[in-house]
Amino acid sequence: MGQDQTKQQIEKGLQLYQSNQTEKALQVWTKVLEKSSDLMGRFRVLGCLVTAHSEMGRYKEMLKFAVVQIDTARELEDADFLLESYLNLARSNEKLCEFHKTISYCKTCLGLPGTRAGAQLGGQVSLSMGNAFLGLSVFQKALESFEKALRYAHNNDDAMLECRVCCSLGSFYAQVKDYEKALFFPCKAAELVNNYGKGWSLKYRAMSQYHMAVAYRLLGHLGSAMECCEESMKIALQHGDRPLQALCLLCFADIHRSRGDLETAFPRYDSAMSIMTEIGNRLGQVQALLGVAKCWVARKALDKALDAIERAQDLAEEVGNKLSQLKLHCLSESIYRSKGLQRELRAHVVRFHECVEETELYCGLCGESIGEKNSRLQALPCSHIFHLRCLQNNGTRSCPNCRRSSMKPGFV
Ligand SMILES: [Zn+2]
Ligand SMILES: [Zn+2]
Repeated sequence: MGQDQTKQQIEKGLQLYQSNQTEKALQVWTKVLEKSSDLMGRFRVLGCLVTAHSEMGRYKEMLKFAVVQIDTARELEDADFLLESYLNLARSNEKLCEFHKTISYCKTCLGLPGTRAGAQLGGQVSLSMGNAFLGLSVFQKALESFEKALRYAHNNDDAMLECRVCCSLGSFYAQVKDYEKALFFPCKAAELVNNYGKGWSLKYRAMSQYHMAVAYRLLGHLGSAMECCEESMKIALQHGDRPLQALCLLCFADIHRSRGDLETAFPRYDSAMSIMTEIGNRLGQVQALLGVAKCWVARKALDKALDAIERAQDLAEEVGNKLSQLKLHCLSESIYRSKGLQRELRAHVVRFHECVEETELYCGLCGESIGEKNSRLQALPCSHIFHLRCLQNNGTRSCPNCRRSSMKPGFV
């Protein structure tokens, strides 16, 4: 298969893919990969295969194609292609919750010689790096990376990137419990979809609706949460977007749990859990198990809760997510307290405080914890976060954590 035919076939695959005939598109692209001798074409088709497998949640295949793409980029001896393929490798690892690897490949990307395309992809590299830091609960670095990504998006008028960063920021603020910001950023993403998104994939709309649902649920607006989650799920089902389906199921389960309807919550956690397991989203599994454990606690079935916690703790340690570990220790603590088991109780108290130390989740001004209950937060330009009220009441001119001098409120 020569250059022209390769190009035609890639195009044919794209049309099939866009009209939701995913399997047919994959067949066409796989054939190009087998038959084409055109290196450029092979590189492009590998990119299509990476994206398609990412959207379907087939992350191991995604990783496989990303690795082959790097070899192809090397043969092409082109810096832009090499950068693009390393970004795909970073993203595949991000999806598989291999966060340390993601960060290291992102650093490889940033260290490659600067090119024109490099400036555009830089924002996406920063986003992926931020997501990985968030996965490890390294909050300050996550925020720093998101801010960088947002700056790239603004400088390049890249609304699609901005939309994705806003969704990640929503997830960031949901985790550190500033629910107002957790809602603000995905709303901003939804606004971008409305203003610019006519030609975009519906995926962006679904993504922003999902993050809004999570924030509404945390704020206790369960009706709005349900509406957004249903909208997101509808699109996810139409597009065979398994990863988003799993997240929506998890969100539905959390909404029902918040309503006290455990009967409805349990099967949704189970369904979320089985898709998360199938696609390899271990962090999602941790979240589902945490929800299940909370349901068992509400039913006073403490041993069943401890079973779920133990499974979740193993997974959380595997992926290195400190915040989940912290939450799980906190829940264990309350269980052992009500069981009156002092030795186990103390062990979890110790581990809980270690996690607080490691996540640095406390305000450098008042010394109290961040992320324990909903409160308004503000980041400084150094990306350290504080209670908004503490910053407003404070007269100092430099960040109490790192002594950087500007006290101007940060971008995000
Ligand atoms: Zn404070
Ligand atoms: Zn600082």
